Amino acid sequence: MSEMIRIAIQKSGRLSEDSLNLIRECGIQFNNGTGKLKSEAANFPAEFLSLRDDDIPGYVADGVADIGIVGENVLIETHQKVDLVHRLGFSKCRLSLAVPRGDDYRQLTDLHQKRIATSYPRILSNFLQEHKIEADIHEISGSVEIAPSIGLTDAICDIVSSGSTLMSNGLKEVEVIFRSEAVLIAHPNLSPARQQILDKLIFRIKSVQAAKN
Ligand code: ATP
Ligand code: ZN
Repeated sequence: MSEMIRIAIQKSGRLSEDSLNLIRECGIQFNNGTGKLKSEAANFPAEFLSLRDDDIPGYVADGVADIGIVGENVLIETHQKVDLVHRLGFSKCRLSLAVPRGDDYRQLTDLHQKRIATSYPRILSNFLQEHKIEADIHEISGSVEIAPSIGLTDAICDIVSSGSTLMSNGLKEVEVIFRSEAVLIAHPNLSPARQQILDKLIFRIKSVQAAKN
C-alpha cells in the first residue's frame, strides 16, 4: 500500500465546518459519514480522524495522527510536542479576563491576590507571570462564566467572541490575554513520504487562501 497521511479534525464544534470546507476547497473528496471516526479521501493520499479538539495535539504528538487542525489556544494549553506548520485564519477568537460589571477595575494589578476561574490555566498563568501578578487560578472545565456569580471566584478568563455570554452573566471584558485562530499542526518527525504529502497539502491550502485575498 502506498503512503498516506492521517489528518485529525474536530468531530463536531466550532472548528469542524471550516476545517471540512478547507479540505474540500483543496479539492480533496471524502465521505464524512455522520458519526464515523475514520474516513479515507477518494482522490488524495489521506485519511481523516474525527476527534474532540482537546485530544488532537496529543494524538499528533504521539504519531497516531500525522497532522491536525486545532485552535491555537488548545495547542498552547495542551503543551504537546508538535510543530505549528500553517495558520488557517478561521475560528478566530480571543481569550480574555472579565470581572463583574459593577467592579471598578482599572488595571491588571487590581487582580493581585484575586481568584480567577478558567479552563486555560497554562495560558493564564503564563500571562500573569509575565505581568508579575499573583492570583489564585481555579481550573474548571465548563461554564466558567458563572463562577463569580456563585461566589467561587472574583474574575474569569475565558474565550470571548461576541461578548453576549459575558453580558448575560453580569460580566465585563477587561483584558485580552491571547488571540487565537485555527492552525495546522504536524508530528515533528514525519517520514519523508508523509512530509511530501503534507507539503502538497500546504501548497493547496496556500492557493485557496491566496484566492480569497
Ligand atoms: P469538543 O467537543 O471538540 O471538545 P469544544 O466545546 O471544546 O469541542 P468548541 O466550542 O467547538 O470546542 O471550540 C473549538 C475551538 O474553536 C476553540 O478551542 C477555539 O479555538 C475556537 N472557538 C471557540 N469559540 C469560538 C467562537 N465563538 N468563535 C470562533 N471560534 C471559536
Ligand atoms: Zn474541546
